[in-house]
Amino acid sequence: MNPFRYERALDVDHAVQAASQGGRFIAGGTNLLDLMKENVERPRRLVDISRLNLDRIEPLSDGGLRIGALARNADLAGHPQVLRQYPLLSSALMAGASPQLRNMATTGGNLMQRTRCYYFYDTATPCNKRSPGSGCGAVGGCTRIHAILGASEHCIAVHPSDMCVAMAALGATINVAGPQGRRTIPFEEFHRLPGDAPQYDNTLGEGELITGVDLPAEGFAGHYSYLKIRDRLSYAFALVSVAAALRLEDDGRIAEARVALGGVAHKPWRLPDAERMLAGETPGSRVFARFADALLEGATGQGDNEFKIELACRAIVRALEQAANGTPQSQVDKRIA
Ligand code: SF4
Repeated sequence: MNPFRYERALDVDHAVQAASQGGRFIAGGTNLLDLMKENVERPRRLVDISRLNLDRIEPLSDGGLRIGALARNADLAGHPQVLRQYPLLSSALMAGASPQLRNMATTGGNLMQRTRCYYFYDTATPCNKRSPGSGCGAVGGCTRIHAILGASEHCIAVHPSDMCVAMAALGATINVAGPQGRRTIPFEEFHRLPGDAPQYDNTLGEGELITGVDLPAEGFAGHYSYLKIRDRLSYAFALVSVAAALRLEDDGRIAEARVALGGVAHKPWRLPDAERMLAGETPGSRVFARFADALLEGATGQGDNEFKIELACRAIVRALEQAANGTPQSQVDKRIA
């Protein structure tokens, strides 16, 4: 690990100022410290934001919920209002990592976590994300965990978060403080596709700090499911995950649908136009399969991961059936019903 300067931020303005001068934020440290130990990241200055007053989870006047950037994943998953109003988010959080990691990891850090591409972590191989312009070791390499949607010739990595897939489906908004003041970023505009600049995971500017995440009032608590398919049920990142949320009319037809995918792209994958196809339909496997085809349009395998296309198709249908039936995937018994 390289030497670095450590300082503790006193308030948000201090944190932003320090980051504007080349500092990197650290809170739970569950991703950044690993990256530093592996020499993947070599920050010269760490700005510890863990003592900032950003850990509250509180209701908004419009019926939504504000989640502080430093709220721990475990606290968020078990928060009474999250369990009641946003069980999809709680379920996704419980599908991720281990209890120890969830006790340390923060909401902001989860948004910022970096890909688990093997080659990104292996400094003996080229990686455009780690070292722009060096090439991509994954292209033509071992691609079991890589993207089937939205990839570029420069990077085929996927975003690893479970929490973010649920937040994408719920239509969250990210609150940010920066050198130019405060702003909000719609969730779908926060993470980015790799294009020709895969070193950038998101659209944050220099020195900008995530202060929190707002959820809208509609939490789809009646009909939801977070289905995560992984190599080891005990603990692994998603090969494919699906956050499915439905609002049903009294006659059982679909009023509104939200579906986001994890493990398939450089960001949680959602297509609102495809979701609108489901409005007015009666829930059923044929309708859901048609939707899956639309959501996966353009999906392309990279060799080892071609199985993900069919896997994603089946997982979308299963998650939507679970949501429609009001029988969400259990994260305690991880077997798929
Ligand atoms: Fe790096 Fe992206 Fe290629 Fe992985 S897929 S080696 S992260 S450029």
